[in-house]
Amino acid sequence: MVDLHMHSKCSDGTLEPEELVQLAKKRGVQVIALTDHDSVDGLERAGKEAEKQGVILVNGIEFSTSYFGKEVHILGYFLDLTDEFFLGKLEELKIERGNRTVKILKKLSDRGLPLTMEEVLMEVTGPVVSRTHVANAMMKKGYVYTRSEAFRQYIGEGGSAYVAKTIISPNEAVRLIRKNGGIAAIAHPKLIGMGREKVLSLIDELIGDGLDALETYYPGYSNEDIKFYEGVCKEKGLLTTGGSDYHGLNREGVQIGDMNVPFEVYEDLKDRFLQRKTSIESL
Ligand code: AMP
Ligand code: MN
Ligand code: MN
Ligand code: MN
Repeated sequence: MVDLHMHSKCSDGTLEPEELVQLAKKRGVQVIALTDHDSVDGLERAGKEAEKQGVILVNGIEFSTSYFGKEVHILGYFLDLTDEFFLGKLEELKIERGNRTVKILKKLSDRGLPLTMEEVLMEVTGPVVSRTHVANAMMKKGYVYTRSEAFRQYIGEGGSAYVAKTIISPNEAVRLIRKNGGIAAIAHPKLIGMGREKVLSLIDELIGDGLDALETYYPGYSNEDIKFYEGVCKEKGLLTTGGSDYHGLNREGVQIGDMNVPFEVYEDLKDRFLQRKTSIESL
């Protein structure tokens, strides 16, 4: 069993990187990718634990990007963690996350829901601040009962305190991953709020930037969704990927390994990564 999408305390999950690996082992998941938002900070620790436990860890990331005002998430796999250019870009994205949180807090306070940065930082568990942490702080203040209420009413797309992230496009994220030597995939394409037609044209555009795969196996996808995206992958020469998007206690009802992603999905992604690496090294 394989699970190529999950978050640790280094972004907005609630388990330490080591604990994720231990849970995967316990649940019989042989291969995991840790894909924290805009961060690779948990990978070294996860890698050490994976070696101990005999679990295969794929070095991953999930970039948050913006495409004509819509949020698009891009997954990267098999990353080279010594790539200084890549790491520099991640530092910029972390600063942008801080600036964006300031703007969100201003909007909330304008709407009569004052929240301080200190209160948000109390919820932050690693190097990355995310709206999940803002939602948790809002719950503590009694402004909302649930995280989904916080997103629906205030901080999600269409909410009254929504602030888009603007500094990186999906095209740039795909190119950044490919420049690093990694494999690039669109995360949960169904959840991009722009309809299948537009998603298909985004896919074509990103293929031009070096896109490798679509996340085809994802919680909440119907069999029809899965068939549809499998078909798109076949037609366009893309690989499939998938995972649980496990966030620990920050996302109820989701468990590591939930998606039963087949081992071949991992093997195909790895083959493409290795083939490309070999062809670059032989130049
Ligand atoms: P950010 O990375 O700061 O843009 O925050 C995005 C994160 O917020 C996602 O990765 C989810 O973990 C979480 N999120 C987004 N929408 C919702 C929602 N409707 N309910 C609960 N959590 C959400
Ligand atoms: Mn998240
Ligand atoms: Mn995502
Ligand atoms: Mn995710």
